Order: sequence, then C-alpha cells, then structure tokens
Amino acid sequence: MRALTIDAHGGLEQITFRDDAALPLAGGAGDVRVRLRAAALNHLDLFVVAGIPGVNITPQWVLGADGMGVVESVGTDVRTVKIGDRVVINPGVSCHVCEYCMSGDQSACVKFALLGEHRPGTFAEFVTVPAINVRRIPDAISDVQAAAFTLATLTAWRMVVTRAQVKPGENVLIQGIGGGVAVAALQIAKARGARVWVTSSSDEKLAKAAAIGADETLNYTTTDIAREVRRSTNKRGVDVVIDSAGSASWASSLGALGRRGRLVTCGASSGPIVLTDLRKMFWNQWTLMGSTMGNDAEFDAIVGELAAGRLIPSVDIVLPLSEGRAAFERLASGKQFGKVVVLVDG
Ligand SMILES: [Zn+2]
Repeated sequence: MRALTIDAHGGLEQITFRDDAALPLAGGAGDVRVRLRAAALNHLDLFVVAGIPGVNITPQWVLGADGMGVVESVGTDVRTVKIGDRVVINPGVSCHVCEYCMSGDQSACVKFALLGEHRPGTFAEFVTVPAINVRRIPDAISDVQAAAFTLATLTAWRMVVTRAQVKPGENVLIQGIGGGVAVAALQIAKARGARVWVTSSSDEKLAKAAAIGADETLNYTTTDIAREVRRSTNKRGVDVVIDSAGSASWASSLGALGRRGRLVTCGASSGPIVLTDLRKMFWNQWTLMGSTMGNDAEFDAIVGELAAGRLIPSVDIVLPLSEGRAAFERLASGKQFGKVVVLVDG
C-alpha cells in the first residue's frame, strides 16, 4: 500500500513516500480496518520523526495519528460500525481494563498508545484500530474537516471543558494561537461564553484568530503579555491559561494568571523545564494542571459537536499523501494556522 514512512529517526529527509508498505493485518475480533481518505499532521508526528526517548520504531514505520476513511473490514465482535461506514478515528488506543480505563479516564491508561507513535499510523491507505476508536460521521462533514478534527479538538476539549471548566464570562488566555490545539481551544472557549485572549509572534495569525472570535490579540514579540493582561484587567489577571508551548511561554502564562487561576498544559514544544515561584502559586491559590488527549466520553462529545456543525476545525493547507514531506515542512515552519491535511487518494 501507499504510505508515508521512516526507517530511522532524524530530520524530515527521513520521511519517505512509498507504494510497497505492508498492509496492516485486519486485527482481532474487536478491531476494524479503515481505508483512509484523509489524514492530518500533529506536532506529535514531528517528535516521532526526530525520535522520542523510550519509544522504538520498526523500519517502514508508518507515521500519522489523525485520520478518517471508510470501514473496510470488521472483526466478529464489532457491532458499532459496519463495512462501508464513513468514520473518524480517535488516535488514542487504551486497554479498557486498567483502573484508569475502568473509571472512565482512558487517556490515563497504563497502556495508552497513539497511532503513528506506538502503533502503525494513518498516513497510509489502511490502518487497523479497535472499533471503539471510530465513530460514524454525517455526509455534511467533509473528508478534510473530519481528518483535521480529532487529536487537536479532543485535547483542547479536555483542557477547556473537563480540566479548566471554563465558565461564561471568564477570561481565558491561549498561548501560541495557530497550532491545532490552540485554535480548537479558542473555538471551544468562545462557545462556552468566555472572553478569550490569544498570543502569537505573527500579526497575520492574530488577525485570523480575531476573525474566528478572539476578543483580545497580543503579539508577544512587541508586547509584555503579563503586563498587558494585568493593565487591561485592572490588575486582576485571567481566570484560565491554556498553554502548550512550555518553557517559552511559562513566565508570561503565570504572570497573566489571576487569583484562583487555573493553568492547563498539554505540551512543551518550546522546551519542557520551567521555573515556578511557589510563593505566587500558594498566595494566589493557583491550580496548575496537566492534560493529554481525552477519554471515550469526551470523544463522543466532540464528535457530537462536529456532527452538529458546531465545532469545525480550521484547516491551513491540504496536500496529497505523495507530498507528505512538504506537509511536514509546513508544520515544522510554524507558519500554519490550523491543521495541515494530507489526502490519501489525492
Ligand atoms: Zn487502560
């Protein structure tokens, strides 16, 4: 089958488009094999190419976490979907028997695995996943919209709705607008009635964010984010910070966070080690939270929003799978606003 693969870690030159990749096995009684139509990139894919400590790949490793397509075969126990159904894929695979899965928190699973990182991915003609990881989608949702949807929206939903529990009228600061999670967090926070602040080094991205609802836009190359937030909130600060950048934004995230503030982090794309003054943390009674992916109930919730047309992802560019390396270069450039999508049939 055609696929975007790597044989070794390194730079983007490792990424190879081939037409002789091994077809994934149909899987077990609870699995489905999906013929992919479209897939989307995430920062995770860049980390996999570079190499993640403790994660081993086998050559002709198929990249890609997000994807959508048509069910091609189903295991004997599968009742939720049938051959021919058009589905979106949740790239987070959990065991459904550990204590975290049993309590409904599948993204805390002790055996949690991601497509493209721990299991063969979605930048290919076929992928095999547990049936519980796919949901049918209505015809009104395009292939590109569906492919661009899951990882970023699921991650953002858990951060904004489940973890931070953003309420109407609250002030929410989202660092680094343009990335898939940040853009989805903006859409979700606005839908919940928050006043949303976004930051970027690009005025072009800030203008795009304003066009989809951001209330306040701040360019961090020309503005002291914490000082500006304090000034325009009469020193109060924001209620919630959504941060996926890590070390580069941590100081301004905490500087902008008001009393009883909640900060949620899901990533460290600029670096993982940060400094926190604990005196400010206890005095202001902050809650600093981690979050990753989402559970089955959250997946159902976001697919419901997608199907209803209330939560449609922003798409930056669409390229054919054969130009997958160019898609990776676009994401690595940091110039994208929204998702980079590849068409498997294109
Ligand atoms: Zn589990």
